[in-house]
Amino acid sequence: MPGTRLLLLLLLLLFGGGLAPGAADDDGAAAGRCTYSFTVASPGEAGCPEAGDGRELRAELAALAARLSLLESREAGAAAPAQSPRVQSARPSTPAACGDLLRAVSRLEEDKGRLEREKEELRRRLESSARELARLRAARCPPRARGSPRDALHGSGQASPWDPQTIDYQELKSARMEVPASHLLEETAPGRPDAEDSGCGELVWVGEPVVFGQADSIAGKYGVWMKDPEPVPPFTRATTWRVDTVGTEVRQLFQYDDAEQFSKGYPAKVHILPRALESTGAVVFRGGLYFQQRRSRLLAKYDLQGEAIAVEKEIPGAGYHGQYPYSWGGYTDIDLAVDETGLWVIYSTEKAKGAIVLSKLDPETLEIQRTWETNIRKQSVANAFIICGVLYTISSYTVPNATVNFSYDTATGTSRPLSIPFENRYQYVSMVDYNPAERQLFAWDSFHMVAYPVRLARA
Ligand code: CA
Repeated sequence: MPGTRLLLLLLLLLFGGGLAPGAADDDGAAAGRCTYSFTVASPGEAGCPEAGDGRELRAELAALAARLSLLESREAGAAAPAQSPRVQSARPSTPAACGDLLRAVSRLEEDKGRLEREKEELRRRLESSARELARLRAARCPPRARGSPRDALHGSGQASPWDPQTIDYQELKSARMEVPASHLLEETAPGRPDAEDSGCGELVWVGEPVVFGQADSIAGKYGVWMKDPEPVPPFTRATTWRVDTVGTEVRQLFQYDDAEQFSKGYPAKVHILPRALESTGAVVFRGGLYFQQRRSRLLAKYDLQGEAIAVEKEIPGAGYHGQYPYSWGGYTDIDLAVDETGLWVIYSTEKAKGAIVLSKLDPETLEIQRTWETNIRKQSVANAFIICGVLYTISSYTVPNATVNFSYDTATGTSRPLSIPFENRYQYVSMVDYNPAERQLFAWDSFHMVAYPVRLARA
């Protein structure tokens, strides 16, 4: 067998499993010289432009191909200095020719061993580069927008599955909670309404917070999480919503189908809100996300099924963007709330001189139906929620043993001091909302999404 073809065969055997496809130029072989070229299947670098390691890898492969060609060229020159490969292929007829052939075979054996080592090294580099490419893409590729910018503004109109593999949102790294959700439901059962305690009443007790989810990125230091007390299909009472509100351009609304998904931090879908949301005052009610738009006193209802803004309305005179926040700050000037009677907004105005103002809203039009002005200074309390038409405030967002310290009853127009223990377990409560269907307080306490069972007493 001619040295050239033997080498070619060896090379093909060596590289047949590791690189694809390999090719040898037959025309070149017929002329006594083979040219090798290799291509390597890219690990999907098309989606990300920074695959510098992929270029490096290809450069290495090209260099190796050149070395192989050079090797073949030298071998061909040594084995057949004066004869064509076809003549060389004839049976050797002299001892000298036999000696040349044996030496050529010996060199080929040595080359084979060296090529095997190079091949192994190449495979190792290929695997390493593939891993590095995957890591770079996960770390640097921007999140893939769902549809066109127009879709982002107006909604795609259909529920598309969320593929966590394509997104590297830090929110996807949320830690799994320590206790299975089924245990949590049992533990919080005493706080749920039952036949004995299903009606409205006065808040008399707040239980210990139970962790339902946890964020492990700075984006989730504060935020808002919600369930719709009156869900509209296809959503259910189990559908859970979350917005991480750290940052100036907050538009991502995470949708989770159930408690387990929520606890794992893997959303079923991410909605991109057409308008940026400000602060932690949003609520979900009757199929809509109600929220305050960034740097404005405009409220918006985002239709969760239609994925578009259904209605917008300004709250006349409402302070915003740091004018009348809660003591925590965080632009908590305008706080929405839901209770057994419907949708509310908690805010203040210049006319009220920073005292809490309450307005009942029409959920369809966002028109104000009625307004109450309290004597509770908004910046002196950490947060507020409404149960059965009564506003309650929390004394501190950071001390561990805080209290529910005031109430204001819209039925009588009177307020009174209270001292119901409220535990700030993680000492940074940025949002508190009452959920009348769950009969719990939902709160966001320094990366932790917690719920507090409550008890109401009939007056
Ligand atoms: Ca609130």
